[in-house]
Amino acid sequence: MTDKEPTPPIRTCVGCGKKQPKGLLHRLVLDEKHQPMRDTSQTAPGRGAYLCGAGCLNAAVKRKAFQRAFKKNVALALTQLETLFPAAT
Ligand SMILES: [Zn+2]
Repeated sequence: MTDKEPTPPIRTCVGCGKKQPKGLLHRLVLDEKHQPMRDTSQTAPGRGAYLCGAGCLNAAVKRKAFQRAFKKNVALALTQLETLFPAAT
């Protein structure tokens, strides 16, 4: 008998567009000041953006993917995002 394995929720990286199980991606949400922060618990309310890691940050910023993901015209400073994602990944 083969039990159906539970499929983990799949999310798309806003940088490279790769689909991955949610647990492998970093979730970003906006705090009350509309600034991005990492949602390490992945349970914060509101819209989230998912990212593989620091390597996808640039691409995501260039594509304005965060604005799309958050449905807000947020001004995200790349340098600030880099502090959330230490470059070595
Ligand atoms: Zn990616």
